[in-house]
Amino acid sequence: MKMSQRLDKLPPYLFVEINRKIAQKRARGEDIISFAIGDPDVPTPSHIINWLCQAAQEPANHHYPETNGLPELRQAIGEWYKKRFGVSLSPDKEILPLIGAKEGIGHMALCFIDPGDIALVPDPGYPVFSMGTILAGGEPYFMPLAEKNGFLPDLKAIPPRIASKAKLMWINYPNNPTGAVAELDFFEKVVHFAKQYDLAVCHDAPYTEVAFDGYHPVSFMQVPEAREVGVEFHSLSKTYNMTGWRIGMVVGNAQMIDALFRVKSNLDSGIPQAIQQAAIKALSGFQDCIEEHNSLYQRRRDKLVKALNAIGLEARPPKASFYIWARIPKGYTSFEFATELLDEAGVAVTPGIGYGRGGEGYIRLSLTLPDDRLEEGINRLLAWQK
Ligand SMILES: *Cc1c(COP(=O)(O)O)cnc(C)c1O
Repeated sequence: MKMSQRLDKLPPYLFVEINRKIAQKRARGEDIISFAIGDPDVPTPSHIINWLCQAAQEPANHHYPETNGLPELRQAIGEWYKKRFGVSLSPDKEILPLIGAKEGIGHMALCFIDPGDIALVPDPGYPVFSMGTILAGGEPYFMPLAEKNGFLPDLKAIPPRIASKAKLMWINYPNNPTGAVAELDFFEKVVHFAKQYDLAVCHDAPYTEVAFDGYHPVSFMQVPEAREVGVEFHSLSKTYNMTGWRIGMVVGNAQMIDALFRVKSNLDSGIPQAIQQAAIKALSGFQDCIEEHNSLYQRRRDKLVKALNAIGLEARPPKASFYIWARIPKGYTSFEFATELLDEAGVAVTPGIGYGRGGEGYIRLSLTLPDDRLEEGINRLLAWQK
């Protein structure tokens, strides 16, 4: 077999080694507490599942769906954006349902990136931003997210020759892995920067509904001129604990949405219709589950941050997202630290280096594990004490 060079360009997947180690330990009967997975532990709310089961019985839903989704779903997404962010979107031109945000993010690279092209990518960042760019033959230019800048990229630090050559800019707030949030003044600067250098902006926003202490994150689309330069990816995964159902959306710039539609209509055949109907129910039905999930995460957040600080790891409670981004003591790489913690305490965390060089010096802990497991994990951390 002669496989593509494109595959060789993908960097080795850093989590593979740790995941293999966890699997080995579990196979030996060891009990591993994992803070490493960003996937809600609480099931999808039952009113959504009941609707999905009913929709699955419907023969009309047993056929190929349309690539751009049910008109009723695009409508429901539009109404949700209006209600939540006060933003009006055209359901036919400015909204496209996706098989999860990740699918759209990966494919958007194909709409812009030719071999040798540049995409501006946050570092640390969700790996799909750079992997999509690399698979399309392009090169990521990493924008460091420094703690002293609130984990926002310093746009002034991007060399003008890079900004002029770049075609895409990726940003993501509330942020994975740092838990940082952005306000409208930052998004306004991004729009201005994109106009100056003729860049397309992709804002990835799956955590706008996972927020604490009464805080409500903003949407990139709230900047009046945002839709002239960019789109926002969103998802039902984190808002409604629907990661397993694979459904998300992209909204904003009509030209970008049409380009993504053209790529997708040649690669996939849409989202199973019963799942689309469950998504309509989720977006337009009871929203109480969001507050319930958030108060659960908030309690866990406060306990875990307290424990991390007690063992000498610097970490602040995030305003949004379900991640704690904790600074590790000097003298360790994040990989060494995570490996020791796993070997000595049976606790799995994600080493920051897995999100790029800018993640070195940190580990990420997710709040998506059941309370009793979280308590046990905290007890092990406290007993481990470096
Ligand atoms: C979870 C996550 C996604 C993926 O969402 P899906 O809709 O499940 O594909 C996208 N971006 C970030 C930053 C995430 O953490």
